[in-house]
Amino acid sequence: MIPFLDLKAINLAHRDELINAFTRVIDSGWYVLGNEVKQFEASFADYCNVDHCVGVSNGLDALHLILRAYGIGAGDEVIVPTNTYIATWLAATYAGATPVPVEPCIDTYNIDPSLIEAAITPRTKAIIAVHLYGQPADMDPIMAIAEKHGLKVIEDAAQAHGALYKGRKVGSLGHAAGFSFYPGKNLGAIGDAGAVTTNDAELAEKVRVLVNYGSKVKYHNEVQGFNCRLDELQAALLAVKLPALDQETARRKEIAAQYTVALQELDLVLPSIMDNAESAWHLYVVRSKNRDQLQIDLSANGVATMIHYPIPPHQQPAYAEFNGVSYPIAEQIHQQVLSLPMGPTMSHDDVSKVINVIIELLK
Ligand SMILES: *Cc1c(COP(=O)(O)O)cnc(C)c1O
Repeated sequence: MIPFLDLKAINLAHRDELINAFTRVIDSGWYVLGNEVKQFEASFADYCNVDHCVGVSNGLDALHLILRAYGIGAGDEVIVPTNTYIATWLAATYAGATPVPVEPCIDTYNIDPSLIEAAITPRTKAIIAVHLYGQPADMDPIMAIAEKHGLKVIEDAAQAHGALYKGRKVGSLGHAAGFSFYPGKNLGAIGDAGAVTTNDAELAEKVRVLVNYGSKVKYHNEVQGFNCRLDELQAALLAVKLPALDQETARRKEIAAQYTVALQELDLVLPSIMDNAESAWHLYVVRSKNRDQLQIDLSANGVATMIHYPIPPHQQPAYAEFNGVSYPIAEQIHQQVLSLPMGPTMSHDDVSKVINVIIELLK
């Protein structure tokens, strides 16, 4: 079976260095809020071309804490894409705000900027722009709308580490960004981890206080905060993997190109990347009208695939208040998308095998 994503192989490439880092942290006797976190924050801020990075516990907390730090909560509305992982919506909900869904462009799968203004009300405070599957959202029009209406733009960069929009890194495009280092993301920890990046010093400081019980000075609590810290161990492990990220992304890009060249002529909709963007290729997502059967047939022929995602947030029991509302573009995407095997350690031969199976099935 060709795996969808071989996490073991990805981490095996860094095994010795990961173990060295692990040992160093254990032997240091210092496990929370120390030099490892500080150093990783500095490296990741540098990587994203921003002034500030705050390590946090995971991607959902990153987004949630940005909203809290901007004072967004009960009675406020946050614009979110209909087509995203549910964490984007949950961030708004956890802050006490109401998610207001906006449909995506059918070609890029990212939020359609031309539909945002119609969703803005006097209560709207922010837009969460998701860089889904690794492709940056179309940020310039989103920032222009936000400026006109006095809104914050928060990037959900959980799937797009290192992706570029007009030559600029995601994480530096909005007012603040949330990253996830969940093991399966392009930069993955050995467990849960996340980060906030921003050029807004005040926001960074507020997030830093919120992640640590609302405290700047130990046992002095300015606000009712949380415990959402990134720990030393995960920071040290991430610092091992960060220098290899661009090389790994380059390999993902090669795989995507191999798929795109070979699958052109079939009855499949292939990924469409904007001219001014470079995807981080977190996922290679195709669309098929017979998606479910194609997935079964691929599996029977030794190719593992996944669906990102099978049920949109507005149709989840968790968001029962939206269950009656129709978002046809998101629904179509959720019914048709299939993610092919993709990862930095996937061999040229394995990509060819996937291609050959798909051609056999669809020709
Ligand atoms: C993974 C993901 C998140 C949440 O990150 P966690 O670290 O799992 O909390 C948020 N948004 C998107 C788009 C994601 O893919």
